[in-house]
Amino acid sequence: MSQDCLFCKIVAGDIPSELIHEDEHCVAFNDISPQAPTHILVIPRKHIESMDDSSTNDSELLGHLLLTAAKIARDKGFAENGYRTVINTNEDGGQTVFHLHVHLLGGRKFIFPPG
Ligand code: AMP
Ligand code: ZN
Repeated sequence: MSQDCLFCKIVAGDIPSELIHEDEHCVAFNDISPQAPTHILVIPRKHIESMDDSSTNDSELLGHLLLTAAKIARDKGFAENGYRTVINTNEDGGQTVFHLHVHLLGGRKFIFPPG
């Protein structure tokens, strides 16, 4: 846990969130400022600042985050229609919270490339 990290505080239950899923390795909760009808963040319990801070030691964990997002999309019923998974990294990538997270967005059509 990193002392000043917002998402570590959510993992610890010190800041409330609308929990969607939790397991040994990750937690998923609704984004506070949804950009789609469904907008969920899937985050590792372990504090990793960004993709730029990840390593091959995290291979299994990173796979688990994506597979968890895919399972949530199926469980919520929008997997067949489609969805968007996004990982923003550092300043140019638009990252604002420096605890790695996968955005899972569904329930509308997305354009590509994103802005
Ligand atoms: P990013 O810009 O990729 O770092 O994404 C950070 C996301 O965290 C944004 O979509 C925010 O809306 C979301 N966010 C910030 N604070 C909270 C919070 N307390 N609970 C849920 N989501 C949050
Ligand atoms: Zn953290």
